[in-house]
Amino acid sequence: MIAPGATLGLLGGGQLGRMFTMAAQSMGYRVTVLDPGDQGPAGSLADHHIRTDYLDPEGLAELARLCAAATTEFENVPADSLRYLSEYCVVSPSADSVAVAQDRIHEKQFLAAHGFGVVPFAVVQGPQDFGGLGGALYPGILKVSRFGYDGKGQYRVAGPDEAGYALAAMGGEPCVLERQVPLACEVSVVVARDADRQVVTFTVAENQHCHGILDVSIIPARVAPALARQAIETAVAVAEALDYRGVLCVEFFVLEDGQLLVNEIAPRPHNSGHYTIDACVTSQFEQQVRVLCGLPLGDPALHGPAVMVNLLGDLWRRGEPDWRIVFAQPRAKLHLYGKHEARPGRKMGHFTVLADTADRALAEAMAIRGALRERAGLDAA
Ligand code: ADP
Ligand code: MG
Repeated sequence: MIAPGATLGLLGGGQLGRMFTMAAQSMGYRVTVLDPGDQGPAGSLADHHIRTDYLDPEGLAELARLCAAATTEFENVPADSLRYLSEYCVVSPSADSVAVAQDRIHEKQFLAAHGFGVVPFAVVQGPQDFGGLGGALYPGILKVSRFGYDGKGQYRVAGPDEAGYALAAMGGEPCVLERQVPLACEVSVVVARDADRQVVTFTVAENQHCHGILDVSIIPARVAPALARQAIETAVAVAEALDYRGVLCVEFFVLEDGQLLVNEIAPRPHNSGHYTIDACVTSQFEQQVRVLCGLPLGDPALHGPAVMVNLLGDLWRRGEPDWRIVFAQPRAKLHLYGKHEARPGRKMGHFTVLADTADRALAEAMAIRGALRERAGLDAA
């Protein structure tokens, strides 16, 4: 066990890293962040910030020297950096797990090969690959295989001509073409799995996206108990197939006919698990610290229903939002990430509302969201 007082290393400096840093520091650990950015959400809170590229040999060597263990807060950290660090200290998740999740082609092939249901897809390495596909994948979504997030690097395409343009617009990078499927809803499950193969799962979240970005998470998801159980079992099976160590999120599509398909996996805590900070005995970030340090897993139990709403930069259109709107609700919890520049679509923070039922939490969260949007001159929807 790595005891409090030790220094933990974190690759990446965004809001997930900030919340990891807060959890680790409150348990008595020190945190060193390696991130090329200047004073990002995690770097500004960490005990130490190594400001280099993720592949910089000197930066990685310093992290390895300072830290008893290292983790990552986003999947685009090069797997090779994790591989290098694992020669010097405990690393979770492993480079191999991250390598699967950070490349859509690998991810889809891995899931399909292990028998998990995924949407019909094809690998597109270049324009020549569209020829043999036929019409079964249209209308489709062309997704760049690497470095896409929050709906970026995705184009909805009606047929092969549009797909060809979209591929060119993405610089001809390898892509996955997926059929656009009719969604009844989307759900996700956050799993924590340790070195002894112990697993805990958090309550299933129901996720609503807007323009490809998570907007609202409703917990527990308003789905049939059998479907929720299936999502949890599948998420655990994915973690086992990866021999995963750390915190993992599995995002699912629920189709109109009731089928449950795996959309994607994130090798880290997830936006749809932010509710765990305020609504669970142990947060997803504390679980990340626990697995990394070899501590027993914490209890993931939910205190009660919750709804999380993301706060995007659009809300800053007329300046800083009036936070009294959130504070006025005694069961709402505001989280801001300390980002200095509010750009449209940028995740600036979130709030979580706790209530006796998910529907009540949703109604109260929507009232707060509507008031914030109105102040910013956005339509309330
Ligand atoms: P990201 O990495 O940006 O989160 P996703 O693949 O999860 O990318 O896509 C973002 C959102 O776009 C999904 O949560 C879903 O709402 C929608 N979406 C993505 N793929 C499909 C699809 N094949 N059919 C229908 N909706 C989709
Ligand atoms: Mg997604």
